[in-house]
Amino acid sequence: MPTQVTIDSLSGFCPGVVTAIRKAENHLAAHHQLYCLGDIVHNTREVERLEKQGLKTISYDDYKALTDATVLLRAHGEPPNTYQTARLNNITLIDASCPVVLKLQQRIRAKYLEGNCQIIIYGKKGHAEVVGLVGQTEGNAIVVEQPEDMERIDFTRDIALFSQTTKSIDGFRKLVDEIKKRFTGKNFEYFDTICRQVANRIPNIESFARQQDAVIFVGDTKSSNGRVLYEHCRNANPETYFIADAQDLTEDIIQRLKGKKVGISGATSTPRWLMEAVAKKIK
Ligand code: SF4
Repeated sequence: MPTQVTIDSLSGFCPGVVTAIRKAENHLAAHHQLYCLGDIVHNTREVERLEKQGLKTISYDDYKALTDATVLLRAHGEPPNTYQTARLNNITLIDASCPVVLKLQQRIRAKYLEGNCQIIIYGKKGHAEVVGLVGQTEGNAIVVEQPEDMERIDFTRDIALFSQTTKSIDGFRKLVDEIKKRFTGKNFEYFDTICRQVANRIPNIESFARQQDAVIFVGDTKSSNGRVLYEHCRNANPETYFIADAQDLTEDIIQRLKGKKVGISGATSTPRWLMEAVAKKIK
């Protein structure tokens, strides 16, 4: 029986990443040079592709030293001081912050300005999106990543809990339950602000993986979303291989795929062209 190869139609870039890359490509087509504050997407191959067109990834230190330039802000969103630096240094911004993240920033800011309650963010400390969210509270929000971070919460005071858009719904619910158990204040509000583009990927990839004999998961170890999706994929189908690109497909893997139904899937940061190149090599 010939090997059948199917690319998971529900995998690959989320709308926020699609928009950021489109904005970068449009600018590069006309100007051949553009700075991007941090990796535009957590995928080395895609970053390299855009760098060939003139994209230059810069750090926050580079950004602070930059003047009279054009800088793209990626989908993760930024804290207010990034915009302030742009004004001071005559930097033109191409703002590709995802509208879902911007809306979350506004909600956190509004709640913070109401005063009197602690803002808690369920998220990964130091992650670019979380830095942008904490920035809305002048650095006062408490980020809860591990159970021990809860010790920083004052349970006698009111609490407003939000989530980083890419966290797991299960983890968020567990945190809500834990806070409820310990809370003695008047008002505990919680807002499930998890992006459904990401949350829905888990049941999708599990169901896709179960329909295949084997799955090739294309991703980058830099992508936390990629690692989570890969784990779910492997749990649903133990014959799952994690690769970064077609070059990682060894002869041994290809031999094992022979005559099977092979599915190809990836993270929200995995470009379609990379999955297509993998499909082509297997075929
Ligand atoms: S995962 Fe959701 S919130 Fe994050 S960039 Fe993509 S669409 Fe926007």
